[in-house]
Formats: sequence, structure tokens, C-alpha cells
Amino acid sequence: MLLNCGRFLMSSSSISRPSALLSPAEGEAALGHSHQELTGGDAVVRALTDDGGFRVICIDLTQTVAEVVRRQALTGVHARALGELIVGAALVRETMSPKERVQLLLRQGEQGVRLVAESQPDGTGRGLALAPDTHPSGSAWFFEAERTLPTGHMHRGVIDLERPDIAEALVGYMLRSEQVASAVDVACEIDPTSAQVLRAGGYLVQLLPELSESTLAIMTARLSEFPRVGTFWPGAADRVAPDEVILDGEYGPQGVPGRMLEELLYGMPFTVTEHGSLRWGCRCSEARMLLSLSALPRAELHELFSDTGALTLTCDYCRTDYTVHRGMLDGLQQPS
Ligand SMILES: [Zn+2]
Repeated sequence: MLLNCGRFLMSSSSISRPSALLSPAEGEAALGHSHQELTGGDAVVRALTDDGGFRVICIDLTQTVAEVVRRQALTGVHARALGELIVGAALVRETMSPKERVQLLLRQGEQGVRLVAESQPDGTGRGLALAPDTHPSGSAWFFEAERTLPTGHMHRGVIDLERPDIAEALVGYMLRSEQVASAVDVACEIDPTSAQVLRAGGYLVQLLPELSESTLAIMTARLSEFPRVGTFWPGAADRVAPDEVILDGEYGPQGVPGRMLEELLYGMPFTVTEHGSLRWGCRCSEARMLLSLSALPRAELHELFSDTGALTLTCDYCRTDYTVHRGMLDGLQQPS
């Protein structure tokens, strides 16, 4: 059964996945410390209703998204879409596989913009915009998700979109590729004058097999009138009902995500199963750059280093420069 629940699609007849599986330790640790900065403030809260009907994940990712938008020098619709996509990556990871990496891609046809968002098990997120200035007319939009499974294999899903709406894409992907029925809202709001990210976050309500028809009906009615997620931050003034306005100081220790959770599950007994911090962070390092270079054929490397014996590589995500000298590759290179 499909219910039209406001702007979301919910299905009460789908199968739920098992919750997060633990994974073997990340094999990437051997590659050395990655370039990472702590920005603090971003948070996730996960909860389960006591009747086993819903799992809810609420996220504030404002500072992570602000850092991505700043490093990518993005403005306008692409900044907003990438921000929402990064929130989506964190929501998918927290729902499907908290201990594994998730990467989401939104692209327009083969030639248009490509937005990439990544969420890592350590709570870091990063993003990237390729060809943001292209606007191929009439090209279809595609949403792709890739996540590592505990076995080390990849789970990949691709869905086509009528329009580049991240919340709709996430609901469609979760249902069609992960067999998870959900309701999702994401937001990334940017000050049009200063281009600063004002707020970014979202929630995902997962329908679990224990869900009763009556509880589903309550949640469906609630979500159809639920305020847009962007209104949950202090200072956001466009809440639907005046008596719902949240004042500074009303936020508990779990901040904006906690407040979202309380309103989503109002009147339904629930348990917070996990809460933690999220932050911006890039995975690049000199060791990784060397490793990717060392995989190139010898002739190609010779050409790359022919002028000065040194090469500057820039990380597409964080825009950090790495200078590599020819001699640094000695011992790493594959025989060819
Ligand atoms: Zn980087």
C-alpha cells in the first residue's frame, strides 16, 4: 500500500532491513592520517519507538555543509543541492550502515553537473561539485548511491528522477534499492546576500515491520502537516503554526536533532538508541596521493614529471595541494 503523505511517499507493505551490522576495522588506517579539521556542533540522534514501529534519525549538519560550500566555492542552487545531498548521505549511512561509508551522487545526464556527497563511519562528511556551470537542456537527472557492505562488497543503486529533489530521491532510493519504506525531509538554506549556509539538516523516519496500521495512520497525518525541517533551527521564523515557534533555550542537550525527534515522535514512547557528533573531514593525505600516482603506467609518470621532477596535485574535495617529487614514488610503483 502506498500512501501519499504530504510531499513524501510512504509504503506500509515493504520489508525492513536489519539494523546496522558491525564491520571489520577500516583497512584504510594504514594509509596514514587524513587531512581533517574539527568544526564541532553538528549532531545526529537515532531513536526507536518502544512499539518497534519506527526508527527515526535526525541530523544537524550545518557546519559540515558550510565547510563544503566554502571549499567548493559554490553558490545558489548547486550549493543548496550539494548541502542537501550531504545531509542525505549521512541519513542513509545512519539508517543502513552506520559503520560503513556511503557516497551519493546527483547528476544531470552525462554532461551536466555532478554533485558528490560522502559520509564516513567516523562521522565525517565531505562533498564535491563537478561541472557546476553546465546546464544541458532536457537531460534527465539521476541519483546514485554506493555503500560499503560489511563483507567489503559494494551495494550500488541508481534511480532516475523527474526533478532534482533530494528528499524525493532519498525516499525513492530507500524504497527501490534498499527495500526500506521511509519519510524524509532535508534542508539546506543559504543566505542569498552573504552566501553563508544558515542551516542544513534533515530527518528520516523508517517504517519497521512491527508497525501497526493505526500508528502508521497517526504518523501519516502528522507528517502531512509537519513543518519543513528548515524551521527547526533557532532564528528560522517560518514555522507553520505560531504556537509551534521554538524559542532559544528550548533546545535540550541534543540540540536541533533532539527537538526534531521530539516533535516527530510526540506522544509515542521512544528510546534514543544513539547520539553523536558529526563534522567535516576530508580523507585525502600525501600517502593516498602517492598511492594513486603509483598505479599509473611508468610512461605516463615519466611524462608527468618530465619538466621539474615535481608535481602538484590538488584534492578535489578540500582543495588542499600536495607536492610530489619523483623520488617519493620509489618503492611504491607497480612493475610495468
Ligand atoms: Zn582533501
